[in-house]
Order: sequence, then structure tokens, then C-alpha cells
Amino acid sequence: MGIQLFKASFDVEACLAQVRECLEKGWTGMGFKTVEFEEAWKKYTGHKYAYYINSNTAGLYMAVDTLKEKFGWADGDEVISTPLTFISTNHAIPKSNLKAVFADVDETLCLDPKSVEERITDKTRAVIFVGFGGNAGRLKDIVKICKTHRLKLILDAAHMAGTRYKDGTVPGTNGDADVTVYSFQAVKNLPTGDSGIICTDDSELDEIFRKKAWLGINKDTYARAVNSEGTYKWKYDVEYIGDKYNGNAIMAGIALAQLPHLDRDNAYRRALAKWYTDIFEKYPDQVGLVKISNDCITSQHLFQILVKDRDGLMVYLNSNEVYPGVHYIVNTDYRMYAYGKGTCPNAEFASEHIISLPMHMNITFEDVQLITALVVKYVMDIRNGEKLA
Ligand SMILES: *Cc1c(COP(=O)(O)O)cnc(C)c1O
Repeated sequence: MGIQLFKASFDVEACLAQVRECLEKGWTGMGFKTVEFEEAWKKYTGHKYAYYINSNTAGLYMAVDTLKEKFGWADGDEVISTPLTFISTNHAIPKSNLKAVFADVDETLCLDPKSVEERITDKTRAVIFVGFGGNAGRLKDIVKICKTHRLKLILDAAHMAGTRYKDGTVPGTNGDADVTVYSFQAVKNLPTGDSGIICTDDSELDEIFRKKAWLGINKDTYARAVNSEGTYKWKYDVEYIGDKYNGNAIMAGIALAQLPHLDRDNAYRRALAKWYTDIFEKYPDQVGLVKISNDCITSQHLFQILVKDRDGLMVYLNSNEVYPGVHYIVNTDYRMYAYGKGTCPNAEFASEHIISLPMHMNITFEDVQLITALVVKYVMDIRNGEKLA
């Protein structure tokens, strides 16, 4: 089977107990465990409002769409985003008839505040920041820029479950981001099957998300089932052409079972990253490392290096039964976003040279020794590296 990039590990007994509870209660849909998880997540992160949904993608779509409506943005208005991300981040922008304007990344692989400022025009309405690999990058500077220029800030925290600042606070909280969206997709740090959570400090936004995620209906099943006072409990109004983005109790049960392990898992991920880094630091001319911002304790969703011949290294590792990944091909390489080609040289460089090494709970110290030895052999013996970092 070799060594895979990702492998989710579950507290199987705890997950089964949660699922059993849902099945025995006869409640597998929205409500019950979804509400319990929302409370647990708010407590864990400090976000004021949190709504459990079926994916991060759904959350990003709702975030952009709802902010556009609430603040009266026009079609064609601009949202600044990174081209170095999973495509969900950027699809959220044209999905709402807005234009994605790409700013470049810095050595943290997150948006470079300087590049963001250069892209601001009188049509700019928002910035979407991706905490790449769990790194907060220069998010605090981006927050300042957004406040100065009165731009909304959406944090795509798909990689950031468990990321904290060193003072213990969570990126996006305390009014830093208008909306923060996490992913609990199958290979993220808090894996379920597919789900996510959309968080905000704004009660009005939270209310709208809850309606929009359920076809625009303004009362959810659970609220009606437990609402004893109303005589007309089966009646509801429909305010939006909403979507079907709500989460369900089965997934939320798995999330509840996994949450107590998140900090421990992330600490192990950081230990793996340190083992990798300790070796690669000896080869600064052949192996480029990603800078983690000083103020952040990363969730370490990814461990990435930059090498001269990435594709060659990939094939070499595969032939040795090590299966890394690439996060990401720069989105301006895709037809949809090709208009941005050539505007973000750092992101384009990363796209050509980056490789994500295996990072999960089943990777051992010995695995890291084996993987780093293969990488070092390749970059030293097979290719003469040129300075990358
Ligand atoms: C995984 C991911 C998403 C999408 O998450 P889903 O929950 O699968 O919709 C969005 N952005 C980034 C950066 C991701 O890695």
C-alpha cells in the first residue's frame, strides 16, 4: 500500500456510539447532534455564532452571496483572493456574479498584504484569505487593510481546524473576519465524511445562513419539533431561493467524537513537521521550506517543501511507494481563471515546485526518516538543485 499523503484516523468506538445514538433516537437529519456540535465548536473556538453545514464549499458560497446581498454589491464588483488554493475558494466569487481578482502569496504561501493592497480598486468589496496548510500567514495585517479600506473579510479556514494564535485566540474571531468557514471533509484535520461549519460574530448573518442553507425556509425542523408554544407549528415562510446546504446529525456525531482528539492530533502533526524540517534544514540550497508565521500555532494540515524538479521527485517517490500530493496548481492555470495568468509570480513558482509530504496520524518517525532520505537522495544525487527558498 505504501505511504499515503493523507489517511483519516477515527476514534471508531466513540464515532459508532454517536451514530448509534442517532439511529436509536431515529434522528439522523438536521438538529440534535448538529446543534450539540455547534455549541461545542463555539466553545472550542470562541466564534460567537456557528452553523453546521454539509461542506466548506457550501459555506463559502453562502458567505459571498449573503455579504453581497446585505451590503448591496453590484454584479462585477471585485473580491481579492489567492490563486494558490482549492478551487472552491475562488468559485464562490463568480458563483455570485462577482470578479475574482488574484493577489500574490508571500513566503507563508498565504496572501501577501502588500500585493492585496496593490489590487484594491474602487470596485473591491472583500478579501478571501486562505489559511494555507493551517498557517495564519499575515492575516493580522490583512485584517487591518480590510478595516482601513472598509472591505469585508472571509476566512477560508478549511485547513485551520485547531489553528490558534500564540495568545490562545483563534484566527477570525473577535471581529477579525466577517465570516470564517471550516471544512470537516474526509481528509481534513477534523474528518467526518463531508461537512463544514460557517462562523460569524454577526447574529443577522447567522440567521440568514440558517435560512439560506435550507431552501430559504425560515424555521428548521428541529425548532418546530421542540417548539411547544405554537399552534401552527407546521407553518413556515419562505424568504429566499435557498440551497440545501444543512449538515446532518450522523456527520455531526462523528465530528463530536473527533473534536476531543483535534489538539492531540495537531500536536502530532507539528511533531512530524519538525522531524521533516530538522532534516531538510541541512539542505537549504536544494529544499525550500514554507515559513510559518511567528504568531501562530498551526494545525499543520500540510507539510510542504519546494524543490527544483518537483514532477521528477514525485515520480521517484511514487516508484518507492511514497505517495505525496500537490497543493495546489495555481488556479490561473485553469481556463476559468486564465485571465489572471502572469499576475502572481510567487504563486506560479510554488505551483511548479511544491510538494506535500505524507502527514497523518499513522506516519511514524521511521517513515519520516525514510521519506526524507529519499527526497535528499533525489535532490542531491539525481539533480543539482538551484537555490529555491
Ligand atoms: C477542502 C477545501 C475546501 C473545500 O472544503 P469542502 O468541505 O470539501 O467543501 C475549500 N478550501 C480549501 C482551501 C480546501 O482545502
